[in-house]
Amino acid sequence: MIEIVRVDEGVRLEDYGNRAHLINWVRELRSEAAVLAPRFKGRRVWMVNSTAEGGGVAEMLPKEVDLLRELGVDTHWLVIKVDEPEFFALTKRIHNAIHGYGDGGFSFADREVYEKVSRGLAKELRNHVREDDFLVVHDPQPLASGAMVREEVKVRLVWRCHIGLDEETEIARRAWGFLKPFARDYHCAIFSAPEYIPSFLAGKASVVHPAIDPLSHKNRELVPHKLVGILCNAGLQTECHPVLTPRWDHRARRLQSDGEFAELDSGDEIGLLYRPIVTQVSRWDRLKGWQPLMEGFLLLKRYARRFAGDDERFQRLLSIVKLVLAGPDPGAIQDDPEAIDFLDELRGRYLELSPEERESVAVLSLPMASRKENALMVNALQRCSTVVVQNSLREGFGLTATEAMWKAVPVLGTNACGLRRQIRDRVDGMLTQDPENPEEIAHNLATLLADPVTREKWGHNAQRHCYENFLVFNQVAQWMRLLSRELHT
Ligand code: UDP
Repeated sequence: MIEIVRVDEGVRLEDYGNRAHLINWVRELRSEAAVLAPRFKGRRVWMVNSTAEGGGVAEMLPKEVDLLRELGVDTHWLVIKVDEPEFFALTKRIHNAIHGYGDGGFSFADREVYEKVSRGLAKELRNHVREDDFLVVHDPQPLASGAMVREEVKVRLVWRCHIGLDEETEIARRAWGFLKPFARDYHCAIFSAPEYIPSFLAGKASVVHPAIDPLSHKNRELVPHKLVGILCNAGLQTECHPVLTPRWDHRARRLQSDGEFAELDSGDEIGLLYRPIVTQVSRWDRLKGWQPLMEGFLLLKRYARRFAGDDERFQRLLSIVKLVLAGPDPGAIQDDPEAIDFLDELRGRYLELSPEERESVAVLSLPMASRKENALMVNALQRCSTVVVQNSLREGFGLTATEAMWKAVPVLGTNACGLRRQIRDRVDGMLTQDPENPEEIAHNLATLLADPVTREKWGHNAQRHCYENFLVFNQVAQWMRLLSRELHT
């Protein structure tokens, strides 16, 4: 099934222009659009992906669609819905294999599933597009259906691939082998880093960095009252005083010692507004390095005296710091069948911890029922953080790091390609070389937590770097340039 996702972000270009720090970006974008947008007259741009919620792609698309439209490019967003669970299980295996994980074995039966589902999707997609429209397909899930549409309607096909690996492995090669017959029918492809471009697409591939919207609910500034209100409404903080807005219907839940997620009560409150906080927000995916991060944090606690030496302030910090591991309510995301299994594993390890250790680690499930509330929770959590971690083993880009950088929070990333393209080691934060090594993680956390002055400097560097490179204005301008170039080929 194909669903049209309605987009109305509410924030107009004029609103961005009203912010002193964004006005120059808006001016540049408008003047570029004045030249480029008229070239799209009579054509529509269709963005197609596999989910309207959760993950980086769904995060970026609404704003891209909205801004392109406001600038005069008639852009729409379609989401594929698939009932066959084996389809998303397969595309998840492809996703993992492109990142070098799994066995990379794709059978004849896999191809049959992929083609059969894609054929059905293509049939529906054809009802939306007409000749000369742009069909911009995101990631492997709808890749084949896009190529199949082109067999009948002469659309301009663009593949936006958000994933990739910066080395060639046999497993990744097999995944590319699976996708190649479909990908090569595309007019052009866009990747997040040059390292990700497979050789058979070289020559027709470009690079566009993902980017964030500085005024979205995820990233906009939160004045103290608003921040506290969000934490209270979301059930992340007890109301010590009345707050303006009522509690939300869907609230955050914390993993309890009986292994169940439950709403927080005053007994297991985290202390977000008081304590030093180390946070990772991500999908429940092994590749996000959750478990080694937790182990690293526990090592930091266990050897606090060794890390802090005679520094009393640092000793105190290490005794009160907490780790927040937050991810989406796992039931809510259809295209991520492994999330629940992985969360079970993490839960198993969490339950083995001592009560004191469990107390220092909050595993949070964030409801996805309202995109806005979820975004505000993530925003508030990131803003309450002393350090944000993204301990990914592999990372296409890592918007969570970008989001933290925008908030001037120093980031502990890893050497995964997407993260090292954003975070400059010891300039915006730090990079862990081996995200599966808890000792190195503990060490890096200690370095970041020990020195508030350096931390502040790195936080500001990070914010500036994000301002210059990873805001949505730049990205939308690149989209317009790229697509308009395709009009001449
Ligand atoms: N995210 C969210 N709620 C959650 C967990 C994650 O909104 O409970 C968002 C996160 O803030 C980020 C996106 O999901 O914007 C994840 O994008 P990223 O590029 O970091 O990783 P991906 O999920 O695409 O691998």
